[in-house]
Amino acid sequence: KSNNLKGYAPICLGLEDFYTRRLYLRIQDCFGRPIASAPDAWFDVVERYSNDSNKTLHCTTKTSKCLNLGSYNYLGFAAADEYCTPHVIQSLKKYSASTCSVRVDGGNTKLHMELEELVARFVGKPAAIIFGMGYVTNSAIIPALVGKGGLIISDSLNHNSIVNGARGSGASVQVFQHNNPAQLEDVLREQIAAGQHRTHRPWKKIIVIVEGIYSMEGELCKLPEIIAVCKKYKAYTYLDEAHSIGAVGKTGRGVCELLGVDPANIDIMMGTFTKSFGSCGGYIAASKEIIRHLKRTCPAHIYATSMSPPAVQQVISAIKVVLGEDGSNRGAKKLAQIRENSNFFRSELQKMGFEVLGDDDSPVMPIMLYNPAKIPAFSRECLRQHVAVVTVAFPATPLLLARARICISASHSREDLIKGLEVISKVGDLVGIKYFPVEHEKS
Ligand code: PMP
Repeated sequence: KSNNLKGYAPICLGLEDFYTRRLYLRIQDCFGRPIASAPDAWFDVVERYSNDSNKTLHCTTKTSKCLNLGSYNYLGFAAADEYCTPHVIQSLKKYSASTCSVRVDGGNTKLHMELEELVARFVGKPAAIIFGMGYVTNSAIIPALVGKGGLIISDSLNHNSIVNGARGSGASVQVFQHNNPAQLEDVLREQIAAGQHRTHRPWKKIIVIVEGIYSMEGELCKLPEIIAVCKKYKAYTYLDEAHSIGAVGKTGRGVCELLGVDPANIDIMMGTFTKSFGSCGGYIAASKEIIRHLKRTCPAHIYATSMSPPAVQQVISAIKVVLGEDGSNRGAKKLAQIRENSNFFRSELQKMGFEVLGDDDSPVMPIMLYNPAKIPAFSRECLRQHVAVVTVAFPATPLLLARARICISASHSREDLIKGLEVISKVGDLVGIKYFPVEHEKS
């Protein structure tokens, strides 16, 4: 209960599901109605105003235009673009929206081949393979790389697609403490010793899986230290760059570029096209042998309809803009802008007294709410003031570590950011989440 939330202080109940034995939360308002039936607290159906860059989205629940601080539209490509959109329309006319075929049976266009070559060149690996969905890229590729007799060591905060891929692989799975190379080393040492005592033979292979930028933490991976540990214990490295490729690094090449890591030191580089490139799908970039193996064996390549050609074209065009191959310097400007926007927004939030997670340069900025009961009030008040922010809670985060997650885009203007900051500051006072209050000088 909180005085300044009078009227709609939500109540949070922990319930256990009888069948799955899982604990879940029911958040209800003070009248006992589930919060899900309080439509003004969430934005659900989103509409874009044509040619209106990243700035606005339409929340049907409120029928009002909102500043979008929640989408992964890091470089602003998820909007009509002077270079990408005409090419995408052309590809739609030429190839239609779907190949209606799998890659190996008539679903392979020149565009698919071009994108694989472009991705390999962009991330600095010899070859690449693309998939129609980022989630499936992890959940289907991990089992194609490692199975029974193998060992996966996964960061404790890895994305659900990695968790599912690891579970479905049949390999043994161990988790190491989030972004903690020393603890990874302990796990590796223990597991290698255990592997040596296995009755038949030691682990066939060991894969360590990490993310470039953690999507709920906004934090950069301690990649150089993790690579050093993996090399010492001869483990393969798998890096998910869903939130970092195109978003960080001087030329947009992700955490490797930002942290000065040679991509040759990473065995498997994974990423999605759904964030920086404004499309859908995902990729794996690796050695020619690994990609050949995946093309021959991965069911999601052999049995799934290939990626939609216009979606492929969107990624090709967006990467060309980032590389400056569209004949302009818009890509470089976007990259400089997202860095400037992210660092400005993060430092302003911190100055206001919020607890903000993550590192400099990261466009992902979680503001800690802690108590999940604060979620609906925070979300509702932001929407009321025309700012759409994503809030996340259990099971995506631990139970008492609920947060609002801001995603910054290169296409946010300085006025957008200032408006967002003003609203978040007011709502932060109302909901009581400025955990580091700024000391005002006594006059
Ligand atoms: N990996 C990570 C780290 C993610 O955050 C996500 C989704 N946001 C995915 C994979 C799945 O990607 P997609 O949404 O493109 O399916």
